[in-house]
Amino acid sequence: MRVISRIDEVHEFLDEVRAQKKTIGLVPTMGFLHKGHIALIERSIKENDITMVTIFVNPLQFAEGEDLSSYPRDLHNDKEQCDAAGVDLLFSPSHEEMYSQQVLTSIQIKDLTNNMEGESRPTHFSGVATVVAKLFNIVGLCNAYFGEKDWQQLQIITKMAHDLSFRVRVFGCPTVRHSDGLALSSRNAYLTPKERKSATVLSRSLQKASETVQSGERSTSVIMAQIIEEISTEPLVSLDYIEIVEGRSLKSINKIKEGSRILLAANVGEARLIDNVDPYVGIQ
Ligand code: AMP
Repeated sequence: MRVISRIDEVHEFLDEVRAQKKTIGLVPTMGFLHKGHIALIERSIKENDITMVTIFVNPLQFAEGEDLSSYPRDLHNDKEQCDAAGVDLLFSPSHEEMYSQQVLTSIQIKDLTNNMEGESRPTHFSGVATVVAKLFNIVGLCNAYFGEKDWQQLQIITKMAHDLSFRVRVFGCPTVRHSDGLALSSRNAYLTPKERKSATVLSRSLQKASETVQSGERSTSVIMAQIIEEISTEPLVSLDYIEIVEGRSLKSINKIKEGSRILLAANVGEARLIDNVDPYVGIQ
């Protein structure tokens, strides 16, 4: 596995790959890799000749007072995991390499960023879209893999890639979970054992809501009330939002139908956790 920290070296490496008519899979991450990331990597390896992983904790997507400085990092372990998984190129640029000048350009995506994470973290998606656009430009023609765990992010990046004609096909991959249902997340590292146990209420409430939908309930207000009640049984878990939306447009709906998505965010101790489900499928 090649480990590269400079953009011009990525260009050099990928020019050669393209000269050999090889396809490129891209997996952007902020590191502290877990099995959720590895699932994206494995999918990329299966579908492409060359897989490139990026590790960069992007300051643009953190607001003042968020966890940029404490965000968990372990580049040594990340390298080992990437190597073991069969990654060809690991790109881990410094802050100076990515943002050598003050950044005056930012990408705004309308509508998809108005609610949920966009409402709770108003500058977040502009920061995500800007760094992902930068990575898409650095890499060029490729297939890029993102997790459904960040459902709103996935819709936004898919739309941005289309709107700006990036030569990138965006693929969503299912959420990887612990056996008790908790979605894997680098931020789970913040949880104390007690909080870790309480946090399982998030996926449990989504699963119970899915069962209610599957037994015929279609009213979003009924389903949301059920989830709020379930989560209120855990005093360590403080719900930020619960929304039921049309899965692609992210518009709020009154009646659940095929393609609807239930999304929530909650604070558990120091950790801000998000999760979502297709209620016709449930937590898997
Ligand atoms: P992050 O490092 O948290 O920015 O995540 C990098 C990529 O991994 C994003 O596309 C996430 O959606 C994806 N991801 C994070 N956690 C999971 C998970 N539990 N299952 C699947 N994908 C995930």
